[in-house]
Amino acid sequence: MALTHDPGRVLILGAGPTGLGAAHRFQQLGFDNFRLLEAATSAGGLATSVVDEQGFTWDLGGHVQFSHYSYYDDVLEAALGDEWLWHERESWVWIKGRFVPYPFQNNIHRLDPEDMELALRGLERAAAVRPTTAAAHFGAWIQTTFGEGIAQLFLYPYNFKVWGVPPERMGVTWMGERVAVPDLERIRRNIAEGRDDVSWGPNHRFRFPKRGGTGAIWRRVAALIPPTHLLFDHRMARVDAAGRAVTLANGRTMRYDTLITSAPLDLLAESCEGLPADTRRAARALVHSSVHIVGVGLKGPMPAELGRKCWMYYPEDHNPYYRVTVFSNYSPANVPDPESHFSLMAEVCESPYKPVDESSLRDWVLAAMRKDGLIGADADVVSFWHRRVQHGYPTPFLGRDAVLDHLIPALARRRIHSRGRFGGWKYEVANQDHSFMQGVELADRLLDGKPETTYFDPVRANSGVFLRK
Ligand SMILES: Cc1cc2nc3c(=O)[nH]c(=O)nc-3n(C[C@H](O)[C@H](O)[C@H](O)COP(=O)(O)OP(=O)(O)OC[C@H]3O[C@@H](n4cnc5c(N)ncnc54)[C@H](O)[C@@H]3O)c2cc1C
Repeated sequence: MALTHDPGRVLILGAGPTGLGAAHRFQQLGFDNFRLLEAATSAGGLATSVVDEQGFTWDLGGHVQFSHYSYYDDVLEAALGDEWLWHERESWVWIKGRFVPYPFQNNIHRLDPEDMELALRGLERAAAVRPTTAAAHFGAWIQTTFGEGIAQLFLYPYNFKVWGVPPERMGVTWMGERVAVPDLERIRRNIAEGRDDVSWGPNHRFRFPKRGGTGAIWRRVAALIPPTHLLFDHRMARVDAAGRAVTLANGRTMRYDTLITSAPLDLLAESCEGLPADTRRAARALVHSSVHIVGVGLKGPMPAELGRKCWMYYPEDHNPYYRVTVFSNYSPANVPDPESHFSLMAEVCESPYKPVDESSLRDWVLAAMRKDGLIGADADVVSFWHRRVQHGYPTPFLGRDAVLDHLIPALARRRIHSRGRFGGWKYEVANQDHSFMQGVELADRLLDGKPETTYFDPVRANSGVFLRK
């Protein structure tokens, strides 16, 4: 393919999915004037995996492949070939001592009669008065879409547990396909027939690497790129935007003509010299939450109820986690011996609104898992693995789009292109497939002038147009 544009010397910051996407596409198009700098000693970023001392494999939170792109699927095939396991998605909500299949609103027949009544009346009232204007914030959107009952029982408490931000401080533009608008007829039918409505929406099957956790994917994708282009253990400390140079933590300076970065945008702006004051101010307005990943490795039989479950949502207050993944169900290789071990991975959000006391986290998680029936009273906990991830979720805060509409072009004018989960700060396109494709599409634009869809038009990217029919 003849390239129509020349971005000059390119530096890429970060060997997570975004940086690897850009590098992979450069390589594929025959452009080799690039170097990728990664602070860590291996590839993967947030999509990395760790093996603990007891031999349990952990992701940084339950990672599932939700692909919106055939291009991405092809790269995963090239990287791992047939080293995949396929799973039927089974997700549940644990509430008032019972499991309710997800999506919650389709399965309210599982609730106590008075809660079911409350949820149904709310849904009916919401359906009767559909607003004609967009909701002012996420809290209002929940209320007008699902009604008071489901808001109170599940969506308000659950969303606060995930985001650590009151729903009234969150916008609405980010949701797209993520939250299903209720189908009242279907809900009534499910109630009448007492029927569970388990598999729903896109991606009801997902794949997971046979060995090595999610991180195996990104180690293998990195291995498709010539090693001379990849510089691990190279942390960017400072960017001189005017002089187009990156200074590393070890003092070395590298010049660029074009900089692609997937480092968190707030930190990038802090380390960037030569940005105007209003741009720095805009970056300080970005909101994020942190996440604690807690892996519990167990010896002994898994509770029968967890046999086919993938992950469960927890909206209540007595447990610290918003989600628990039955990680040994993703691959037997995630535990030292699948005949005798299983593993659970919990995620706990931390934010200024929702502090976490790390000193009591272990006791609280284990006590809650016992209370919730995830582990038996005398369970043999043979591993407890904890990692705090500072940048966990890019919050879709109210006013986010205006902040990004200032920041991204201001950086682009200086030939700095910030993309990916925290480089782009758009939660609706912040999964692995989106991040990888943001890198690919950016490379295409820089080399060939093609428009980038994923970052600038998330609704279209998520609509399935990039999947082969
Ligand atoms: C709890 C949790 C659950 C998730 N679940 C899913 C899921 O189920 N499915 C899914 O698809 N995605 C999931 N994700 C999202 C997934 O992890 C991201 O989509 C993906 O990792 C983003 O890739 P990225 O390259 O944009 O950023 P990152 O993965 O954050 O990579 C950025 C890289 O830049 C490097 N870097 C940062 N600063 C510097 C610097 N100064 N110098 C050099 N290098 C630097 C970092 O070390 C890192 O390797 C989840 C994320 C979390 C936190």
